[in-house]
This record gives sequence, C-alpha cells and structure tokens, in this order.
Amino acid sequence: MIAFHEVSKRYNSLAALADISFEIETGEFVFLLGPSGAGKSTLLKLIIREEMPSAGRVFFDGLEINKIPTRQVPDLRRRVGTIFQDFKLLPQRTVFENVAFPLEIIGLDDDEIEKSTRETLSLVNLDQRASNFPYQLSGGEAQRTAIARAMVMRPEVILADEPTGNLDPASAWEVMKLLDRLNSLGTTVVMASHNMDITSSLPHRNLEIAEGRIVNDTKQKKTKASERKEKIVK
Ligand code: ADP
Repeated sequence: MIAFHEVSKRYNSLAALADISFEIETGEFVFLLGPSGAGKSTLLKLIIREEMPSAGRVFFDGLEINKIPTRQVPDLRRRVGTIFQDFKLLPQRTVFENVAFPLEIIGLDDDEIEKSTRETLSLVNLDQRASNFPYQLSGGEAQRTAIARAMVMRPEVILADEPTGNLDPASAWEVMKLLDRLNSLGTTVVMASHNMDITSSLPHRNLEIAEGRIVNDTKQKKTKASERKEKIVK
C-alpha cells in the first residue's frame, strides 16, 4: 500500500532522509520509531505530498506520489487521514463541528453530514461531548476528536505523528487502544513516536530510524526468522 524506493530528502544541505526503502502492506500497524530529528515527520509528509523527495520514489496504492497531477493531491489526502501531537482542532467550533468540517468541505448534504458525524463520534466514544468546545475537553478527548475528524472521511490509512506526545499516560493508552481498534477494523496505521515505553505496549511492527536511515525493522527480522524456520523444517 505504501512503498519507499531509495528515498532521500534534503533540506538545503541537511539530509533528513538518506536512501530509505521499505513497504507497508494494507492492514498493517507500524510504529515509526526514532529520536527527535531522526526524520519521522519528514517521512510522513512525503506520503501525503506535503514534501517532495529529493531522490527516489514514493508510492501509495501503486500511484507514484511525486508524479501525480496536483489536482489529484486532495483525493490522496482524503484517502490518508492525519493526526498530530497538538490535535489541530478549530477552537471556535464544537466537537461535532470539528468532525463535520471535512465533510462540509467536500460538499455533502446536511443529512449525510449529520449521519456520518454521529456515527464517527460514536466510534471514538465521544457522543456525549458533541456540543463541547475544544477548551472543555481533556487532552485524550481532544485527540479522540482529531481521530474522529480523520476517520469521518473513511481513510484507508491513518498517519499519526506523535499522537500521544501531549497526553498523560492514561490518556495516551486510551488513544493507543483506539488506534489499535481502528486498525483491527481495517485501517492501516502508521504511528511516529520517540517514546518506546508507550509503543512497546502493543505488539506491532517497529520501523526504527536514526539520522535519516532505517536502523531496525522488526518485520524484516520476523521474515528472516520464519525463513530460517522453514529451512529447518525442510
Ligand atoms: P522527527 O520527526 O523524527 O523529529 P523531522 O523529520 O522533523 O524529524 O526532522 C528531520 C531533520 O530535518 C531534522 O534535522 C530537522 O531539523 C530537519 N527539518 C525538518 N523539516 C525541515 C524544514 N522544513 N527545513 C529545514 N530542515 C528541516
């Protein structure tokens, strides 16, 4: 579903990503791990064409992202939902209005907006908070609102950039469990984090980067381990 082939990204002389190659399959949950400055956000931005690679090729569902015409970029971004550490909610709008906002932009009629927004609020367990404003929410509720706003478009993939970075441990775990549940319902999830204490609580693939390079990929290891096992069985 997502593939990077020998991708490098430079900002002026600084190499944020250097010759990165990996693939993520439909339905996977991947933790993108590494210290601050490792290149995690840059990698996520390349998937939604917020940045362009300096070299190499980035694919989403067979489309080469840096080659698609600009008019197709909104469609790509509808298929890939994004969540950030600082929630990015609209402060003057209620929870309901924040979640409904992307549907208004694409011009759905009021009945469809009402139905999809209610369904999505229910999915993230925020039915009771629909008429609250962001300042009235806990951090965990604010992040769940942001997740609902991404999910209301029924994206195929969720990219989450340090989604637990501003949360206390209990709220962080709540958000992790929600992402895990959305993944089990079929959404591919890529979550960037520098906090391995949090991510180690769920048994998903770890793709670790440091100074713009992949330094560990537990999926590769698993594949190699299972290959060895197959050889032994043979
Ligand atoms: P992470 O998300 O792992 O903290 P980033 O992808 O944000 O890492 O950053 C990787 C490197 O690229 C860092 O050295 C950062 O300072 C640099 N960088 C990121 N964005 C820009 C930019 N727009 N202009 C210049 N340098 C940038």
